Amino acid sequence: MDYFPIFLRLSHQPVVVIGGGEVAARKASLLKRAGADITLVAPHLCGSLQESVARQEMWHIAEEFRPDHLNDARLVIAATNSREVNAWVSRQAEARKIPVNVVDDRELSRFVMPAIVDRSPVIVAIGSSGDAPVLTRRLREKIEALLPSGLSKLAKLSGELRSKVKQQVSNADARRRFWERFFDGDIAADVLAGRDQQARQAIATAIDAQLDDSGRDSPPQGEVSLVGAGPGDPGLLTLRALRVMQNADVVVYDRLVSAEVLDLVRRDAERVYVGKEAGKAYVSQQDINQLLVDLAKQGKRVCRLKGGDPFIFGRGGEELELLVKHGVRFEVVPGITAAAGCAAYAGIPLTHRDHAQLVTFATGHIKHSDSGEAATMLPMDWDVLAREHQTAVFYMGLNGLADIVRELQAHGAPASRAAAIVEQGTRANQRVIVATLATLVDEVRKAQVQSPALLIVGEVTRLHSTLQWFNTTATQAHADVTHIDDEMK
Ligand code: SAH
Repeated sequence: MDYFPIFLRLSHQPVVVIGGGEVAARKASLLKRAGADITLVAPHLCGSLQESVARQEMWHIAEEFRPDHLNDARLVIAATNSREVNAWVSRQAEARKIPVNVVDDRELSRFVMPAIVDRSPVIVAIGSSGDAPVLTRRLREKIEALLPSGLSKLAKLSGELRSKVKQQVSNADARRRFWERFFDGDIAADVLAGRDQQARQAIATAIDAQLDDSGRDSPPQGEVSLVGAGPGDPGLLTLRALRVMQNADVVVYDRLVSAEVLDLVRRDAERVYVGKEAGKAYVSQQDINQLLVDLAKQGKRVCRLKGGDPFIFGRGGEELELLVKHGVRFEVVPGITAAAGCAAYAGIPLTHRDHAQLVTFATGHIKHSDSGEAATMLPMDWDVLAREHQTAVFYMGLNGLADIVRELQAHGAPASRAAAIVEQGTRANQRVIVATLATLVDEVRKAQVQSPALLIVGEVTRLHSTLQWFNTTATQAHADVTHIDDEMK
């Protein structure tokens, strides 16, 4: 962050504008809107500034700039047409530690003016640190179009109601719920549409809804949202997932949830990490189940955030069963599962009319017995998985890769069958390795593939070489893989 954005209360504060032309006039009129006491320093003023001075909206010192003009100024704007004078103003302001802006000259400026969308009291300020002013303007146009003009009224009304709501609804969670209803629901719709009477009625009802019959705050009802965070790229979150993340009191998340996704969680929500690594649970599944129940019973809105989709190898079902048992309200927000995300970002269609009419999602997880005996694969119908014209996707298949490859071949899959590993799928550091059952284990070892990685077995993986599109630093072992077009001949 090269610039730190702040909103400055300038009402009745002395601001000095050096320059008397049209550019100075534009800046001065903007500052006037914020209520600043403006002094113009310039031998001559343009017509519009002369009018402002005549209306006593601004003061005028009809002189060339002198450093003592800056005495007491809160802010300084230099808008003369001489770079020399502007540079002098800038140096003088800097020496006095007064923030200075030189119009269209970021080297000489301590602060820059953002593009603004004004729905006061809501103000959106957009800046690009001076790198992309055209982009900034485009963004402003988009936001202008996005924000209804009634937003002003809605925000003002919120300001008027704040202390009343705070008095009547003392529980902070209940209060937030009220405000969410205020901005998301019928109240906002009424205000924006100008139905003031209905809005007032709806506000009273919404306040009552947070109070029980005795007039005290009713204990807030907790709930759990089981949310799929997708495979990593935050762009793959659903809108619903984002809304839940932004409304949560507490977020309970796994190792597979990417940092970029976590960044989108409400800033002041509590975060609880309950990750597991390669079967080693730092927090047991039972403890997680219980934690969700406990948090909900405290009245919290819990976002249980899981990589991919919560119902695909996510143990989401187990967590919900305990919630049901305790009568805790819940919802499930699906996510893009690793198979769908990795396949898309690796250019590997999971089905294809010529190559795969069936796709199976399997777990390649290896079960370690408690007595420390040899690890065993979970029982699987290898005869079915080894058949041709299909795609088999193995989650958690990295540790057991050699076993999976061996079992598939033992049950009839040819050594030439194509297979791929997608490491860190959909993330900036995604790697894709395409090989055959004969070579995959070696290639994966050579590339030192790490978790999370997804194994895709089937001829469709050959399409990666033609369909890859995502910024991938692929290590491809194509040497012994025939291109799919050749095969189709
Ligand atoms: N519920 C998750 C899966 C959890 S099991 C989902 O629907 O995606 C964990 C396994 O998912 C990992 O071992 C890995 O095989 C796979 N996985 C999850 N995210 C991945 C990613 N970004 N890239 C590659 N594999 C991933």
